[in-house]
Amino acid sequence: MTALDVGFDVPAAVGMTVPEIQTPALVVDLDAFERNVERMRAFTEATGMRLRAHAKTHKSADIGLLQMARGGACGVCCQKVSEAEALVRSGITDVLVSNEVVGAARIARLAALAGKARVLVCVDDAQNARDLSAACEAVGTTLEVLVEIDCGSGRCGVHPGPAAVSLARVVSELPGLTFAGLQAYHGAAQHIPAPAARRAATEEAVRLTKLTVDQLREAGFECDIVGGGGTGSHAVEAGSGVYNELQCGSYVFMDRDYGRIPASAKSDAAVGGFEHALFVLSTVMSAPTAGRRVCDAGLKASSVDSGLPGVWAGPEAAGSAAGPSAEHASVEYEAASDEHGTLSDPEGCLALGDHVWLIPGHCDPTVNLYDWYVGVRGLGTTAESESGTGAGAG
Ligand code: PLP
Ligand code: MN
Repeated sequence: MTALDVGFDVPAAVGMTVPEIQTPALVVDLDAFERNVERMRAFTEATGMRLRAHAKTHKSADIGLLQMARGGACGVCCQKVSEAEALVRSGITDVLVSNEVVGAARIARLAALAGKARVLVCVDDAQNARDLSAACEAVGTTLEVLVEIDCGSGRCGVHPGPAAVSLARVVSELPGLTFAGLQAYHGAAQHIPAPAARRAATEEAVRLTKLTVDQLREAGFECDIVGGGGTGSHAVEAGSGVYNELQCGSYVFMDRDYGRIPASAKSDAAVGGFEHALFVLSTVMSAPTAGRRVCDAGLKASSVDSGLPGVWAGPEAAGSAAGPSAEHASVEYEAASDEHGTLSDPEGCLALGDHVWLIPGHCDPTVNLYDWYVGVRGLGTTAESESGTGAGAG
């Protein structure tokens, strides 16, 4: 293999310093990332929950393996067969596709993958269960199946209660499938900013899940897994006595949306106490007027579906009273176009060529825009970078 060309093939090379990183680049503060991984490990240990970390956030087998080796994860989740294949190919031994898989080609690939690792999948339809069963029978493998219920998000899933019991019965009678429990994820609840309303929505999901678990038990079906819960709500599922697996993903990186969601009514700390570990590093490419700066990170560099990026106060702030996750006091990201980010800078803090550290509005779709992470240690001290590839799943 020929040497990779920094700037063309890759944004940085191992050993470079932060000023040498070619922007826009997806930068991980490895120290903050590792603290987030450890914080969640400690939480699951203290609460006796299993963690099945969601790889949709990072799309990286290396990070999934680290979550399993050091972060207390029993396995990972992903959303697509292609992601599951990439993760298993790189050594992940236990993967839940926390989603429905439909279509003959995709189902055949999933059934084949179950011969290489423990593979679990969700269903919300009896014919889909029969299709999965036939594909497993054809190649002599077994899929573990979670019946997905709609516990409030209005996305996939059968109604809680009797519909879930009927589907569990179908699954349990089919060859090539094992009924493994329930998928009960209320995504919308997690992003409700007000702590009391967020808790109430999640508690309603818990109630519907408990009702379903109880009816399944009466019908003779024990749930090995009752899974759900992400970064915004995991403490509620963990304290419910109903769930036994959490599926948190964003906690490893955090994003501006989650960073603004307070842990409780009495606290300004971000939910779960996690820190921003993911940044889009960009460069000021134009300073056309006194109060305006333009950076090289627009829509193609940071997703805006959950709001515009924040401007991080920068490595200098990491050790300051403002705290490691503080936003810049006066610079604001005001508008994104394809390749430009327009910033207001009334105090003239930024000069042409300066770096700007952006906190993405939403981590998962931002990660999806990049082929490379640039891992950085000791931000604010002697920053050195380590680059590496993501899982590269399609
Ligand atoms: N579980 C499922 C089914 C999801 O769709 C998601 C994210 O959308 C998660 C878990 C992880 O949630 P979070 O990234 O908020 O922790
Ligand atoms: Mn997300």
